Amino acid sequence: MIRPILVVGNPVLRQKAKRISQVDKPIQRLIDDMIETMRAAPGVGLAAPQVGVPLRLAVIEVDEKVTVLINPEIIKTIGETELDEGCLSVPGFWGQVTRAERVSVKALDRNGKEQRIRDAEGLFAQALQHEIDHLDGKLYIDRVDSAEHLQRSEPLRKPEVEARRRAQEEAEPA
Ligand SMILES: [Zn+2]
Repeated sequence: MIRPILVVGNPVLRQKAKRISQVDKPIQRLIDDMIETMRAAPGVGLAAPQVGVPLRLAVIEVDEKVTVLINPEIIKTIGETELDEGCLSVPGFWGQVTRAERVSVKALDRNGKEQRIRDAEGLFAQALQHEIDHLDGKLYIDRVDSAEHLQRSEPLRKPEVEARRRAQEEAEPA
C-alpha cells in the first residue's frame, strides 16, 4: 500500500524516532508499504517518519538492490564530499551538502538479524546518511550552509548544473 509522504512543516519529521524492539508482522507490513511508496515516488530512500511513523526504520534502493535498515547506526565515516541532495519531504528543492565520502553502518535487517554495511560509497553512502538523519529528526536543508545553496527545482545532473551556471554567467553583464 502506498502511504502519503509527509512534507517539511509536519512535526513527525522533526521527532527523534524510537527504536524498534520487535520485528513483527506490523513492521513487515510497514516495510513493504515503504518500499512500494519509495518506488512510486520515485525515490532512492525513505524513512519511516516520512510516512508518519516515528520508528527507526528506513529503506534504500540503489542499483536495484533494496536495503532495509532497522535501528541503524553509523559506526565509521571516511572523508568528506560535497553533494547535491534532495528529499521527498522537501519537494521542488535541492541543495548542496557536505557528507562523509564513505560510511559503515550497523543495523538489523528485515528478519531482525544484525547486518553490517562496510565502507559504502557513492549514492548508497549518501542515502544511508540522509535516511539515518531522518530518524534523528534532521533534514538535509539543516546541513545546507546558506539559503543561496538551496535551489528551487528538481535535482539536476551535474553537467546540466554546470551548463546552466555558464549560461547564466554569459547572460549577466559583467
Ligand atoms: Zn529525505
